[in-house]
Amino acid sequence: MEKGKLYIIATPIGNLSDITLRALETLKGVDMILSEDTRETDKILRKYEIEKPQLSYRDQNHDYIFPRLVESLDNGLGLALISDSGTPLISDPGFKLVRDFIKRGFEVISIPGPCAAISALVTSGFPTDKFSFVGFLPKSGGERAKLLNNYGNLDSTLIIYESPFRVEKLLKEIKENLGERYVCLANEITKVHEKILRGNVEIILEAVKGKRLKGEYVVLVAKDGFSI
Ligand code: SAM
Repeated sequence: MEKGKLYIIATPIGNLSDITLRALETLKGVDMILSEDTRETDKILRKYEIEKPQLSYRDQNHDYIFPRLVESLDNGLGLALISDSGTPLISDPGFKLVRDFIKRGFEVISIPGPCAAISALVTSGFPTDKFSFVGFLPKSGGERAKLLNNYGNLDSTLIIYESPFRVEKLLKEIKENLGERYVCLANEITKVHEKILRGNVEIILEAVKGKRLKGEYVVLVAKDGFSI
């Protein structure tokens, strides 16, 4: 019997229309969807009138459900992995799943689509030939500074995911650790209130100071010496 496959399916990062035809066809074709949050997946399934059983998949329940998932693939079933938004595994669950399926010789197929880091990069106006993506910075101040210094001093654009409550703090840390840099705040990409702010870190810091920022943010730091 032919073994089943795991499909990694990218879903919208805000605008529900941002889903590929291939993603929809694949969702219709698989036997079960592994969802980071089944309620988020429901929104997509309802909009595109797809009915499919779901199983909650998070890093925390990986060890518990993995044997059952192996059995499903052994029995020829097709599985899809979906995260709350964008590309699974990118600051989202799925790495352990892909690694462990590959170890067991199963096929893993990517169905590409939205990713906030890439969308922010291409609208930033910053160089795109070389970039470093670090996802969310660690919590501890020392580790954050170390990471900013390690990646912020490379000859590349730095891409960071940040909560709206910590954007001001992050800008201060960028200024402290990397000095005068051009930065970009990409807020609510693909949504009604999408907003992109670009400028010197000092000016952007002034613009957000004391404000209650809302929505999702990607913060980009241009390489030393770059400005628009
Ligand atoms: N897997 C997702 C991807 O492919 O981009 C990222 C998931 S991560 C848990 C969520 C973070 O991504 C948010 O905190 C924010 O930094 C960024 N993000 C996701 N959607 C966004 C959007 N529409 N606008 C700006 N940033 C977004």
